[in-house]
Amino acid sequence: MGIFTISDQGYKKTLTLQSPADLRVVGNYDCASHEEIKSAMSKSRIAQKKWAEVPLIYRAELMHKVIDVIIENQDHIMNVVMEETGKPIQEAMSMEIFSAIDSLAFYAKRAPKWLRDEKRSMHGPMSFLKKTKVTYKPRGVVAVITPWNGPFILSINPTIQALLAGNSVIIKPSEVTPRSGKLVEDIFLMADAPQDLVQVIIGDGLAGAQLIDEVPDKVSFTGSIATGKKIAKQCSENLIPFSLELGGKDAMIVCSDADIDDAAKGAVIGSCMNAGQYCCGTERIYVVEDVYDEFVEKVVYETKQLNQSSEGFSDIGATFWDKQLDIIEDHVEDAVQKGAHILVGGKRNPSLKGLYFEPTVIINVNHQMKVMTDETFGPVISIMRVKSENEALRLANDSYYGLNGNVWTQNMNKGMNLAKAMETGACSINDMAMSYGVNEAPFGGIKQSGLGSVNGKEGLRSYAHAMPIIIGKKSASSYPYTEKSFKDMKGALKFFWGNKFLRRIWG
Ligand code: NAD
Repeated sequence: MGIFTISDQGYKKTLTLQSPADLRVVGNYDCASHEEIKSAMSKSRIAQKKWAEVPLIYRAELMHKVIDVIIENQDHIMNVVMEETGKPIQEAMSMEIFSAIDSLAFYAKRAPKWLRDEKRSMHGPMSFLKKTKVTYKPRGVVAVITPWNGPFILSINPTIQALLAGNSVIIKPSEVTPRSGKLVEDIFLMADAPQDLVQVIIGDGLAGAQLIDEVPDKVSFTGSIATGKKIAKQCSENLIPFSLELGGKDAMIVCSDADIDDAAKGAVIGSCMNAGQYCCGTERIYVVEDVYDEFVEKVVYETKQLNQSSEGFSDIGATFWDKQLDIIEDHVEDAVQKGAHILVGGKRNPSLKGLYFEPTVIINVNHQMKVMTDETFGPVISIMRVKSENEALRLANDSYYGLNGNVWTQNMNKGMNLAKAMETGACSINDMAMSYGVNEAPFGGIKQSGLGSVNGKEGLRSYAHAMPIIIGKKSASSYPYTEKSFKDMKGALKFFWGNKFLRRIWG
């Protein structure tokens, strides 16, 4: 059984896809050959040159047309995503459609401001002689390589930012969910985007590597740590700029003064949203002992209310591919063998035909167990009792991952201090990790969870080269070096920085 199988006929690979919801075959796709990838790159370079000439406000207008196309075609997009992933309809709407439109509107409004030429005031002696402007130049062709867990949003969100910055885009979606990625190309064409501005290459990891062989001007990668490292190595051979959005093992800290009802609900949705296949999903929970019993009791109650189904308004959908289901089972079995105790779930759902793992609550866990150290990516709520908030923080930071985290307390000062002390790219207080969905927030992991960022002003600007242009009527430096020129420089040094008060002004 497999969600995709690849048959290699020597000259052409074909993907056969099965829906994880019911294992029906839902499509056959030819993988792009290396020749087709080369051709896509040539076409993309031509399209980019023309697109870079388009003023920012017209680039933003394209995003508004795309919003209209998505709104009109929302049911079709959700159906494709649900067929490929087995997501519940609510998550297809919230994670894929709602977030995409929010991102399009957000960047369309701000990009003309954030990417326009920016004057930087000069300091010190140069302020008499020069002006500086920073211009945000497109990088060229951006390769967007994406995973299967948010197959539409993770393909379109970097694409929106790259396009607004004046780049063309070639997307290589996951081989598990190629049609959801292909939708991005279709939608841009339906919105009358220039031909070849957004192209999609279908294929497996080899196609991704071949795309990087064609030396794009930036690689925006989202996926696993193992692939991220390969991409970093390949990019460095040609010094291609890259960003890596990689896996996570997010910790949740529940303090003794937390609102336990709210924290319990947050733990359940944080761990089970997208059937746990969320890079910022809550993967381990540390609860201070004073409130541990109450918290566990409420989490068990909430988890038992969840509806898992392949139809209608279910809460918990399928695991998107069979290999992930094996990992979840392995982590749960490993924990049980090492002394963990399952309170709810703990196995595949026997009443459903597709790839469904029951929402699961596990206690008596510790850092010897994979479920507390490696990315599980399943609907598994792993809860550990700790003596104090300090112990919770020490354990939260005892990880090679550093993507996101969340802290639950009613004391905002304490919450801020704990959040700042978390060794993660971002943190939420009194909510599940939600920073990918907050467009204002630059998003990117630390440690093994990534490099660079997408989103926010910083992410948008990373799709451009910030080029300073130093402007002046006359040259500030010239030969010959003489005793007088040397003395003048000494005098300037004394004037600007010799005085303890004035240096604070000129600095
Ligand atoms: P993956 O690394 O296996 O694949 C991701 C993409 O890379 C796919 O399109 C794949 O075909 C391609 N690829 C594989 N080998 C390649 C190579 N050598 N060169 C170029 N491309 C190659 O990851 P996955 O299993 O699809 O995704 C799950 C992972 O993604 C999880 O670890 C999850 O946490 C992470 N993720 C991170 C974020 C984030 O923003 N930090 C978001 C979503 C998912």
